[in-house]
Amino acid sequence: MISQKEIYDSVAHVAKTIKENKEFLTALDAAIGDGDHGINLDRGFSAVLPKLEGMPDADIGAIFKMVGMTLVSTVGGASGPLYGTAFMRIGSALAKKTELDAGDALAALKAAQEGIQTRGKAVEGEKTMLDALIPAVRSFEEGLSAGLSGAALWDKTVAAAEAGVEYTKGIIATKGRASYLGERSLGSQDPGATSMTMILKCFAPGAEG
Ligand code: ADP
Ligand code: MG
Repeated sequence: MISQKEIYDSVAHVAKTIKENKEFLTALDAAIGDGDHGINLDRGFSAVLPKLEGMPDADIGAIFKMVGMTLVSTVGGASGPLYGTAFMRIGSALAKKTELDAGDALAALKAAQEGIQTRGKAVEGEKTMLDALIPAVRSFEEGLSAGLSGAALWDKTVAAAEAGVEYTKGIIATKGRASYLGERSLGSQDPGATSMTMILKCFAPGAEG
């Protein structure tokens, strides 16, 4: 079971990780976009932190809902509404929960994917954050049905997301700003797939620091 405390700490860990990787994510976006991805996400998660600290006993659904609403209202660009929708959908999927089993975690991952796809109309293979998330969701589901749990299940999931980031280097962007570059987007890894993988890692058991 994943406790409320673990989720709380994981969200705080996301904020810290995004801050630490702000320049890196921004540099990735400078190569194929407009150079603001790290700045955007750091602005959002910097606004999340004080709100998180104000709700130490909130249920897990409420924490995710707060993250989503905060990202939507503070982050500009494509990624704010997309990540915001993902976290709000997770909040609905996990409403009132104070602990999670692996089935809840799968429901949360699927809700995030559906939210991003409903909002952004992208599919796998368009060089976006979905190229990390979709294989991760698939891997989690496969691992779960194969009887994996805990760290082993998350290791498999994170490995799939990382492979997805690698995959984005070899494909042309067809959604978002990077699509304006056409073939010139080849060779660069997608900033959103990279941040997605960082965020997923923060939810692995024991990663919350
Ligand atoms: P902007 O492109 O508006 O400057 P960001 O730089 O913060 O916003 O985010 C860029 C990232 O958003 C991309 O690397 C990509 O992963 C993601 N993205 C853009 N459009 C879409 C979409 N339609 N669906 C999913 N992800 C997308
Ligand atoms: Mg950008």
